[in-house]
Amino acid sequence: MKPRKLARTIGRKARAAREAAWGLLHRHHPILAHLIPMRRCNLACGYCNEYDAVSSPVPLDVMLSRVDRLADLGTAMITVSGGEPLMHPQLEEIVAHQRRRGMIASIITNGYLLSRERIQALNESGLDYLQISIDNVEPDDVSMKSLRLLEPKLKWLSETAEFHVHINSVLGAGVKNPDDALTVARRARELGFNSGVGVIHDGRGQLRALGEREMEVYRELKRFGTRGDVRVNALFQDKLVMGQPNTWSCRAGSRYLYVDEDGIVSYCSQMRGIPGIPLAEYTHADVVREYGTRKPCAPYCTINCVQRVAVFDNWRSPQTVTARLRPAREAPPRPPGQEPGAGGQALAR
Ligand code: SF4
Ligand code: SF4
Repeated sequence: MKPRKLARTIGRKARAAREAAWGLLHRHHPILAHLIPMRRCNLACGYCNEYDAVSSPVPLDVMLSRVDRLADLGTAMITVSGGEPLMHPQLEEIVAHQRRRGMIASIITNGYLLSRERIQALNESGLDYLQISIDNVEPDDVSMKSLRLLEPKLKWLSETAEFHVHINSVLGAGVKNPDDALTVARRARELGFNSGVGVIHDGRGQLRALGEREMEVYRELKRFGTRGDVRVNALFQDKLVMGQPNTWSCRAGSRYLYVDEDGIVSYCSQMRGIPGIPLAEYTHADVVREYGTRKPCAPYCTINCVQRVAVFDNWRSPQTVTARLRPAREAPPRPPGQEPGAGGQALAR
């Protein structure tokens, strides 16, 4: 590993360890926030309900003020996703501001807009983590996120990126050939990346049962080995793929925040509009309240990132109030072309 990349890896791990320790010691601050800089995406995956075709980027000053608000709430890590975050022309400035405010910076992208220059710009911004989900080996009518089309980008990342790269393969409804997940995971490892597997969920974040061959591939991927936080997700996924519920406390709205392009805080991408409070008005009292609020959708939930942060608290502080899973306020109607994608399902993030 090049000296500069090695130094950044050591620094990143030290900061992550410090944030993890603080997360264990202190219960009432967000560990992870998802921040949406634009809803627009350059692709139109058939299973996705998280994009539109025409919306504009959120202005930079608004994004920076949202980063500041999350920092003031004590947020440890922000993941910028979308839509497609690389379509935001000032993404690197948003990432750099996260780092200036002492947070861990991550993005989830489909990878299509990566170039050597953009990877270098992301290096300079201080990005810590980048995740790409690859759905198949060859593009099909459901998804263009294919290994063959992304291969040049993956090579550039392997040669140039100073941040950590995680490649996610997927299983579940809409994935035509489950064996593709194995091919994607093997290629990711060859290129020196971390890899994991996600299970596609329905439009409310809930499980779609896996078929026989998908189960075999899932078991093979587990034998193949996963690292780090993916093992945490395996604790949840093992039960879900067998159709069994998990017992856990979803701390969405507290340890995890989903902040959409309008600056509204939701539990997660599949529970948008709940609790539906603007981030600018979101307070420590909201974080404390949602920490103790039980989410009825938890047993069959497949939202990886929320489950990942839940391990900090599953052993303590039982939840005593039950959430009402309908929006506090109705979302305003969107102009033509800005409705969410029609797929009605989404990829577990
Ligand atoms: S899954 Fe990602 S790449 Fe595909 S349409 Fe949705 S936001 Fe875009
Ligand atoms: S359990 Fe939590 S993360 Fe999962 S769908 Fe419900 S609110 Fe979202």
